[in-house]
Amino acid sequence: MEKIKKNILEKHGYYLTGDESAVKLCHWVSEKLINGRACYKEKFYGIESHRCIQMSPVVDGCNHSCLFCWRYQDFIPRSPDSYDEPEDIVERSLSAQRALVSGFKGDERCDSKMWKEARKPNQVAISLAGEPTMYPYLSDLIEEYKKRGMTTFLVTNGTHPEIIESLDELPTQIYVTIAAPNKKIYNKLCVPSVRDGWERLNKTLELFPSLDIRTAVRHTLVKGWNLGWEKEYADMIKKAEPDFVEAKGYVFVGDSRRRMGLSNMPSHGSVKEFAHRLEKELDIRVVDEKKDSRVVLLSDPEKETIIKR
Ligand code: SF4
Repeated sequence: MEKIKKNILEKHGYYLTGDESAVKLCHWVSEKLINGRACYKEKFYGIESHRCIQMSPVVDGCNHSCLFCWRYQDFIPRSPDSYDEPEDIVERSLSAQRALVSGFKGDERCDSKMWKEARKPNQVAISLAGEPTMYPYLSDLIEEYKKRGMTTFLVTNGTHPEIIESLDELPTQIYVTIAAPNKKIYNKLCVPSVRDGWERLNKTLELFPSLDIRTAVRHTLVKGWNLGWEKEYADMIKKAEPDFVEAKGYVFVGDSRRRMGLSNMPSHGSVKEFAHRLEKELDIRVVDEKKDSRVVLLSDPEKETIIKR
């Protein structure tokens, strides 16, 4: 990766773990260590926010330019000459996380037991930036994290169903983002650099029922763009038969503020109304919510949502 890009990423708080991969301390890790407040995935699924690594094996490689994305996007898309080795990424991401949390030790608000735990991550979110299915050694990467007893969350935009289908090693939980009810809105809001992005996303949804792991669909809801259309979303969800559906309000943060306005951020109330309207179209129910994250969880009420370690 060019030096200038590395500088920009480091300026945005990314900790590079090679030429193409990086870690960034998640806001919720520091929130948990300092204020005891956890992310919604701790509430819904039982992961420990303070022990979670937020990383990407392809920090600069995405085939979407979603207008609501908080990440820096001004890089010209490219295909790297080479990729970082999975084992190197894992080892460096663990030491990067230790370095990133080291500074909290001196903070009197930080609980020392929790700080020690934070230095031993047990969860990784492969969701930092870029589209992880564009990393050719994704299966090996997941395997390396699992070998170390870590749970793995993989977040994809769904544009590479063939890669997901070919994974020998699957994550603990896989997410696909559905940020549009139809192709027209998808092309305008997600700005795919692949011509058949919409068709590929729908292929990924059709693949989900065959995956023998926890599956989740996340709706990133942007007021004035994709909030509504519950019937269309329900039809897409029926294809995927996910264990979990997250209705999540867009948040006006990071670089998205250059492309969106504060008015595009839906209230928690309107996210919940959306979830209840969606509920009417499906045989799953609203089972949980987290107001300060503007997110509502739908699932089969009989289903256990907490991950067993
Ligand atoms: S699961 Fe996501 S939000 Fe929660 S701590 Fe990890 S990276 Fe942050």
